[in-house]
Amino acid sequence: MKEKIHPQYRMTTARCACGNEIEVGSTKENIKVEVCSKCHPFYTGNKGRVVDTTGRVDRFKKKYGLQ
Ligand SMILES: [Zn+2]
Repeated sequence: MKEKIHPQYRMTTARCACGNEIEVGSTKENIKVEVCSKCHPFYTGNKGRVVDTTGRVDRFKKKYGLQ
């Protein structure tokens, strides 16, 4: 008989360096992360790009008289 060797996988709270807490599934507890979805450069950088894109779309519309 083989015993089931499973690390205990459960939901726990990961605390980010920015203070945000995220529920994550992990075998560890009290996880600390340096970035989360609230402060990750991908998201913060993406916001800037969205603004820029909106401006470009606006200019595009003006150029072609769509608005
Ligand atoms: Zn964060």
